[in-house]
Amino acid sequence: MVNTSIKTTKSQEIFAAAQNLMPGGVSSPVRAFKSVGGQPIVFDRVKGAYIWDVDGNQYIDYVGTWGPAICGHAHPEVIGALHEALEKGTSFGAPSFLENVLAEMVIAAVPSIEMVRFVNSGTEACMAVLRLMRAFTNREKVIKFEGCYHGHADMFLVKAGSGVATLGLPDSPGVPKAATSSTLTAPYNDLEAVKALFAENRDQIAGVILEPIVGNAGFITPEAGFLEGLRELTHEHGALLVFDEVMTGFRIAYGGVQEKFGVTPDLTTLGKVIGGGLPVGAYGGRRDIMSMIAPAGPVYQAGTLSGNPLAMTAGIKTLELLQKPGTYDYLEQITKKLADGLLKVAHETGHAACGGNISAMFGLFFTSGPVHNYEDAKKCDTGKFGRFHRGMLERGVYLAPSQFEAGFTSLAHTDEDIDQTIAIAREVLSSL
Ligand SMILES: *Cc1c(COP(=O)(O)O)cnc(C)c1O
Repeated sequence: MVNTSIKTTKSQEIFAAAQNLMPGGVSSPVRAFKSVGGQPIVFDRVKGAYIWDVDGNQYIDYVGTWGPAICGHAHPEVIGALHEALEKGTSFGAPSFLENVLAEMVIAAVPSIEMVRFVNSGTEACMAVLRLMRAFTNREKVIKFEGCYHGHADMFLVKAGSGVATLGLPDSPGVPKAATSSTLTAPYNDLEAVKALFAENRDQIAGVILEPIVGNAGFITPEAGFLEGLRELTHEHGALLVFDEVMTGFRIAYGGVQEKFGVTPDLTTLGKVIGGGLPVGAYGGRRDIMSMIAPAGPVYQAGTLSGNPLAMTAGIKTLELLQKPGTYDYLEQITKKLADGLLKVAHETGHAACGGNISAMFGLFFTSGPVHNYEDAKKCDTGKFGRFHRGMLERGVYLAPSQFEAGFTSLAHTDEDIDQTIAIAREVLSSL
C-alpha cells in the first residue's frame, strides 16, 4: 500500500522540458503545483478512480479532471459512445440532433433552465451570462463574492479564488480598470453586505452571480437563508440572480444546488460534468431572458466548435449514467465517509482542521474554523497543506494541489479506495 519513495524521473524530465515550451510548463496555472511546492506528476492515462503517471505509478484520484469525471475516468459507455460518434465526424459547425438531446436533458434536470445555449468552457458560459444580465436589465453593475471564481474573463478577475489566490495575485495585470469598475464584491454568506451594495447602487445592479456552494476558495457551504435572501433581494431590486453551477451542476444533485436547496435563480451557468470530459459549457434560464440571445434576439454570442458532436455525445452519456437509481446516494455515502474520515484523523493526530462534504464534493481546511467565507479560509496553514499534499502524493493519493480547491469523488471510487485513503492520511498527518 505504501510507497514513500516513488520514482518520478520521467515526470521530472517532461515537466522540465515543458517549462521551456509553455509558460510555467502548463496549460492552466494550478496544475504547476506552485502552492504546494514540489514538481507536478505528468499523467499518462486515467481509468475509473485512478491515474497512472508516465513513470508507471498509480494514484487514487480526487481531482477527477477538476470535476467532469463524476462517473469515473474513461467510463466504458462514454468511450463506446465516443467511438461511434467519431465515425460520423469530429465537428459539424451546423445543427445536430445531439444538441436537442442534451438540451432536453439539461432543461428537464435544472429547475431554472427553460432554454440553453452550449459553449466550450465554463469561462465562456460566465462571460456570456454577464453580457446577457446587463442586456436584459439595461444595467451595468454586478455583484460577485470574494473567493468565487467565474472563469478568467476580465470582469470577474476581482477576488477570484483558488487559481488567483494560489498565485498570490490580488487580481491580474492586463485587466483594465474599466473592465472591473462595474464589478462589486461582497464577502460570501454576508447578506447585509449585499443589501448595502444594493442600497448604495440603486437601480444600477444588473444582478448577483455566485457559486451557490463554493469550490474555488476551498469547499464552503451557504448558511441557512443566504441563497433565499439573495433570491428575495434580487427580486426586490429588479436584478437577476445567477448561479454559477459550472462545478456543482450534476454533482451536488442531478439538478445542481438549485434542486438540492430549492432556490431557483434566473440564469445558470454549467460546465465540467456536462461535457463528460470533453470541452463543454452552457448557460440557460428563463425563456424571456434567453430569447435575447442571437439569433433569436440582439445579444451576440457565437462559437465555431459550440455544440460539437463529440462533446455533446460525452455529455449525454454521462448524464444518462447519472440518471441511474442510487447514484447520488452512493456519491453522498462514500464522500461523507471520506470527509468524516479525513477530519477525524486530522483531529486525532492533533491538527486544527475543519471540513465536510455535500454529495460528491468535499473539503478539508487546516484551520479550526468554521469557514464561512474566503477571509476565514485564508486563516489555513497552507504550508501544512503543502506538506500533507506531498505526503499523500508520494503514497499514491492525488489531491487537488491547493488548499483553496474542493475535492471530488466519483461513482468509480470504492469503499476500499476510501479506507486506503484515510489510512494513508493517518500516516501522513502523524508525521506532520
Ligand atoms: C471551473 C469553473 C469555471 C471556469 O470553467 P472553465 O471550463 O475552466 O473555463 C467557472 N466557474 C466555476 C464555478 C468553476 O468551478
